[in-house]
Amino acid sequence: MEKTQQKPLWGPKKPLKSSYDAVIVGGGLHGLATAYFLARDHGITDVAVIDKNFIGYGGAGRNTAIVRANQRTQENVPLYKEALDLWPVLTKELDFNLMFNNCGNLNLMHSEAAMKAARMNISTAQFLGVESHLLDKKQVKDLEPALNVSEDIVYPIHGAMFHPPGGILRHDAVVWGLAKGVAGYGGDIHQQTEVTAINTEKGKIASVDTSAGSIKTPKVLVAAGGYSAAIINMMLGIRLPISVLTIQAMVTQPLKPLLDHVVSSGAYHVYCNQTLKGEIATGAHMDAWPNYTTLTTAHYIKHQAEALTQFLPCLAGLKFMRIWGGLADMTPDMAPIMDGNDHIRGFFMDCGWGYFGFKSCTSTGKYMAEFMATDEYPEMLKPFTLRRYEQHRLMGETPALVNYSPDN
Ligand SMILES: Cc1cc2nc3c(=O)[nH]c(=O)nc-3n(C[C@H](O)[C@H](O)[C@H](O)COP(=O)(O)OP(=O)(O)OC[C@H]3O[C@@H](n4cnc5c(N)ncnc54)[C@H](O)[C@@H]3O)c2cc1C
Repeated sequence: MEKTQQKPLWGPKKPLKSSYDAVIVGGGLHGLATAYFLARDHGITDVAVIDKNFIGYGGAGRNTAIVRANQRTQENVPLYKEALDLWPVLTKELDFNLMFNNCGNLNLMHSEAAMKAARMNISTAQFLGVESHLLDKKQVKDLEPALNVSEDIVYPIHGAMFHPPGGILRHDAVVWGLAKGVAGYGGDIHQQTEVTAINTEKGKIASVDTSAGSIKTPKVLVAAGGYSAAIINMMLGIRLPISVLTIQAMVTQPLKPLLDHVVSSGAYHVYCNQTLKGEIATGAHMDAWPNYTTLTTAHYIKHQAEALTQFLPCLAGLKFMRIWGGLADMTPDMAPIMDGNDHIRGFFMDCGWGYFGFKSCTSTGKYMAEFMATDEYPEMLKPFTLRRYEQHRLMGETPALVNYSPDN
């Protein structure tokens, strides 16, 4: 039988052109989403998305794919709400199953102080039109029968913050779907091509050097995940308040369905969900030391096993099948930096996403595209300016795991 070569969804490899209307550094979630919306909403299709590895190599293909909109602050909630609302829209539009499993997120509370903090969070969410409820211990047990709600664990469960609109997707599907969308509009995706310099002339972006040649362009977006801060510093001399740390995650052997929601616990510093394949996918905090490795540690595996089996004792004895690490670019206020630069016209950055860059990529892509196309800073992005650090206007955002820890 004749062997057919399967083409990728984003078409055959194209030669790198010597000029583009816009160049995007990083073929992760944010780079691809921005390229997609540049074409969809602004008709800008002469765009190159450049990745030094392959699309989805970074956090895009390593995250645990949890989405939610119940962030803590009023600047963040609207962005994440719009991002969440876009998943079903994009699934249809891209004609690609992003496997959105709208299972809802259950954030466990282990003290009365945590319950009070959750009330504030829930009020902000509800005020901004995001569904979020406080549950007592009995309601938690009814919703997720596998949970141990007894008093005989280190941090007994008092209740939970329940956010029904959240859930999980398949992260590879999102990368592939967006890449398909970009290529469908005529955009170019160049993999295994490293951006090595960003050149300016008279205060404007002029060109980009890559391992495959130079490209003239008036607009550059850096959306290179864990590498963004180093690229922006080394190539343009702009220093960002970003530390790069590893986040690890792992999956168990597959099980019959037992967990209906994404469950997270600040006290135990752990979260988990059951994938469509049946594995329990679990992650936790970042490693405590800044580094650019993606190494995994036995310490992390031990922590996950001990923490999970406290409130999900039915998982005891399960085998972890796979563990991996990825880079997270963290800002001091756990909110991203989405901005341009007054001294370099045509330069844009979208970075500092830490734990949150999967759930936000759809709406962020839309607004970064608007910013790049019109040169007008969208209202939605203004709170995320780099200037907030010099103006001492840091945001009070926190990841779900930190907010409700007994130490806070
Ligand atoms: C283990 C783990 C679990 C996570 N879980 C979640 C979660 O459940 N929910 C959530 O919202 N977020 C989660 N995140 C965070 C999320 O994955 C990231 O915030 C997100 O991937 C950032 O997307 P990005 O497009 O900015 O960058 P990335 O997806 O990291 O893509 C950056 C790309 O830039 C490329 N690149 C780097 N340097 C260059 C260069 N010089 N030239 C060209 N290309 C370059 C890289 O090869 C890479 O492909 C998790 C992250 C990890 C590691």
